[in-house]
Amino acid sequence: MKKILVTGGAGFLGSHLCERLLKDGHEVICLDNYFTGNKDNILHLMSNPYFEVIRHDVTFPFFVEVDEIYNLACPASPIHYQYNPIKTVKTSVMGAINMLGLAKRLKIKILQASTSEVYGDPFVHPQPEEYWGNVNPIGVRSCYDEGKRCAETLFFDYHRQNDVRIKVVRIFNTYGPRMYVNDGRVVSNFIVQALRGEDITIYGTGEQTRSFCYCDDLVNGLVAMMDTSDDIIGPVNIGNPREFTIKQLAELVIELCGSKSKIVYKPAASDDPQQRQPVIDKAKAILNWEPTVELREGLERTIEYFRGIL
Ligand code: NAD
Ligand code: UDP
Repeated sequence: MKKILVTGGAGFLGSHLCERLLKDGHEVICLDNYFTGNKDNILHLMSNPYFEVIRHDVTFPFFVEVDEIYNLACPASPIHYQYNPIKTVKTSVMGAINMLGLAKRLKIKILQASTSEVYGDPFVHPQPEEYWGNVNPIGVRSCYDEGKRCAETLFFDYHRQNDVRIKVVRIFNTYGPRMYVNDGRVVSNFIVQALRGEDITIYGTGEQTRSFCYCDDLVNGLVAMMDTSDDIIGPVNIGNPREFTIKQLAELVIELCGSKSKIVYKPAASDDPQQRQPVIDKAKAILNWEPTVELREGLERTIEYFRGIL
C-alpha cells in the first residue's frame, strides 16, 4: 500500500483518480482549494478511512509524507481558467515548484497533468510529443497554455538539476461523469443544453476538431505512467486518437439525448485551436495503453449521469 497525494483531487479527473487509487488499495490524500472542485465529487469516498481531504492552495508550500504525487491542481475549462488568469499562472507555476520541492525532499515520483494545449493551435497534425507547438504567449488562453508549458519546463529542470523522479503526461480533451453543469467545456455544455431542450451553442463554424477521451481510459493511462520505471519521464500523450468536428459532436449528443434542440452558431472563441488529435504511439509502446471506450458509449454514460443530476 502506498500513500499517494493527489492535488486537484476534488475535481473532475482528480476525483476519478482518487477513487481508482483507493480501489487499488492505496492510501490517498486529496488536496484541493475547491476553486472548480467540489466536495460532492468525493463525498462517496469520505467514509473510507484510507482517504483524507485537505483544503489547501498549491500556490503555497505544503509538507506531508507521501510515496507519490499526482499534480492535477489547475482549472481546466477555458471559462474557469480565464476567470482569474494571473491565479491560473500561479497555480501552474508555483504549484509545480511547491510540489516538485516536496518530491525532491522525499525522493518520490511526481506526475504532472500537462495538456494538449502545450501544442497551441497546431501546424502539425496529428500531434506527436516531439512537436513544440504554436502557442500565442499574450492571448486569453496563454495563462493556461504558457502556465502548463512553464510547469513542464520546471519538471524537466528539477529532473536534470536535482534528479527528481518526474512523469509528464499531456492529456487531450477528456470527458465523463462529474463534469459540472456549468463547467463550460464542450461535452458537458452540449449534453446539458440537449437535455434541457435549449439551443446547442457552437462557437465558430463547428469544423474545428477535438479527440475525446473517456475519463476511465484517461485514469488508466495516468496510473500506467506513474507505475513505469524511473527512466520513463515523458512527455507522453494520453488521449483518444479518434477525431471529430464539434458539429459532429453536437449532432451525436442531440441523437443520443433524443433531443429536439437546435444548433446555433456563436462567434468563435479567441485563439481556439482548429484541430487536435493525439499521436499515441508512445503511450501504446511504453505504457501498453490505449483507450477502449468509444465516443458513443462514453457519451451514453455521461448523459445518464447528467440526466440523474439535472
Ligand atoms: P477540474 O477543474 O475539474 O479540476 C481541477 C481541480 O484543481 C479542481 O478540484 C480545483 O478546485 C483544483 N484547483 C484549482 N486551483 C487550485 C489551487 N490553486 N490549489 C489547489 N487546488 C486547485 O479540471 P479537470 O478536468 O479535472 O483537470 C484536472 C487536471 O488535468 C488539470 O491540471 C488540467 O489542466 C488537466 N487536464 C485536463 C483535461 C481535460 O480534458 N479534462 C485536458 C488536459 C489537461
Ligand atoms: N465549444 C463550443 N460550444 C461550447 C463549448 C465549447 O462550440 O458550448 C467549442 C470550443 O470553442 C472549442 C471546442 O468546442 O472549439 C472545445 O472546447 P472546450 O472548451 O471543451 O475545450 P478546449 O478548447 O480547451 O479544447
